[in-house]
Amino acid sequence: MPSIRRGHCLESEAGPAGKPLLSASERLAIRFGKRFNHGLLRFYPMHAITQSGWIEVITGSMFSGKTEELLRRLRRAEIAGQEVAVFTPAIDDRYGESHVGSHDGRRWEAVAIDPDGDLEAVTDSLNGEQVVAFDEANFFAENLISLCEKLAADGRRVIVSGTDQTFRGEPYEPLPQLVALAEYVEKFQAICACCGEPATRNQRLVDGKPAHVDDPTTLVGAEESYEARCRHCHTLRRGDPRQ
Ligand SMILES: [Zn+2]
Repeated sequence: MPSIRRGHCLESEAGPAGKPLLSASERLAIRFGKRFNHGLLRFYPMHAITQSGWIEVITGSMFSGKTEELLRRLRRAEIAGQEVAVFTPAIDDRYGESHVGSHDGRRWEAVAIDPDGDLEAVTDSLNGEQVVAFDEANFFAENLISLCEKLAADGRRVIVSGTDQTFRGEPYEPLPQLVALAEYVEKFQAICACCGEPATRNQRLVDGKPAHVDDPTTLVGAEESYEARCRHCHTLRRGDPRQ
């Protein structure tokens, strides 16, 4: 088996008989691959930590794959040997150990913190981690913005994931402000549960019916469900809320 040495040019690697070990199509693939990677590095420098730090936002509707993307980025950082800290908003006042995970069973250990608190728990618990992530960031108060700015100014890579719209289809702070401040933003679409078009909205359903426009933005412990829907199929109940 020929070995490929680190730092050696693959394209000039030759076998014992002087023949190239790589076919013409393989050399072509490598050449294009290099160009492709170069583009990725230029626009998404997610593997490198610079002196200045930066903010990345992963947003979109529910079911659009935000958490999958967050986990993908965290794993890439881990493979590169970077230290990672992940925070999630505490649900039902359960603080401490938690996890970020999606339906396919992949998870990442996280610390659940009070989303309405002063967020000092974040800076207190950091110990030199180069990458700091916040999942479900829409549940955090607006002081998450200044915290992210501070962490980036300290030279950290900050990754924020969360939905950018309320169930009413309105901007869901603090995500929109973070989008404006971030160096890198990716907005994902789900697939509309009604028509199959790209979906950007969160349809809240209560007992199978569209939620009322006057319902609170955040419901804790309520019997509601969600669908991803497009602008056309997204709907709200109006009028007398008791009907
Ligand atoms: Zn639709």
